[in-house]
Amino acid sequence: MSYCLFCHQSYSETWSWAALFGLNAEPLLCQSCSAKLELIKGEICRICGRSFSLFPEQYRQGDFCYDCIRWEEDEEWTGVLQQNRSLYVYNDFLKEVIAKIKYRGDAELFKAFSPVMTSTFKSFTRSALLVPIPLSEERQYERGFNQAEIFAQSLTRNVYPLLKRVTHEEKQSKKTRKDRMAKKNNPFLITDEDSIKNKSILLIDDVYTTGSTLRYAAKVLKDAGADQISSITLAR
Ligand SMILES: [Zn+2]
Ligand SMILES: [Zn+2]
Repeated sequence: MSYCLFCHQSYSETWSWAALFGLNAEPLLCQSCSAKLELIKGEICRICGRSFSLFPEQYRQGDFCYDCIRWEEDEEWTGVLQQNRSLYVYNDFLKEVIAKIKYRGDAELFKAFSPVMTSTFKSFTRSALLVPIPLSEERQYERGFNQAEIFAQSLTRNVYPLLKRVTHEEKQSKKTRKDRMAKKNNPFLITDEDSIKNKSILLIDDVYTTGSTLRYAAKVLKDAGADQISSITLAR
């Protein structure tokens, strides 16, 4: 018998969604909770990994969605985020799960997904530095933890918190005006530039929504000399 990490009901492990989906692992959730998850499968956008089966035809062009095409058409952003892959559709159930993690501090709940994440994204995590998306210090203080960092730690021991979210004042102070203009909207800084030079970076976050957070993070890394930057998230 195991206990569902979401609803805490006991369940037997003899059933297997993994076999059904051709995965090597399954979430540590009971049957009824697992059934509410929608795995992203089939055709996806080559960059952001969104499922095309849930996406009207007029918003895609070939293998790309229009959001990604818009980013890529802007010279400043071309190729900045190489690709994102997400495991599940961000549906109502997963919204509840993530709210429970973030706002009720149930960080253990990430462990429910680590077997599936680890096996699905093995090829990504093996060859890159795992960098979680940081919270602002204020937010982290309120919450007591950064969910992206805990999520990353549930996948591997080698997590590198190399990004920092800066406050407005910090951003203003130690930069030239030109620098300031260029980086005006980017909330991220790198804490140790030497360790990212020519490296492949894998950013980790809980959810990919508009993609701008991950792209801003990728941008500072790229500008500081990282080789390529991809990302994985639990939900998309
Ligand atoms: Zn359950
Ligand atoms: Zn896309």
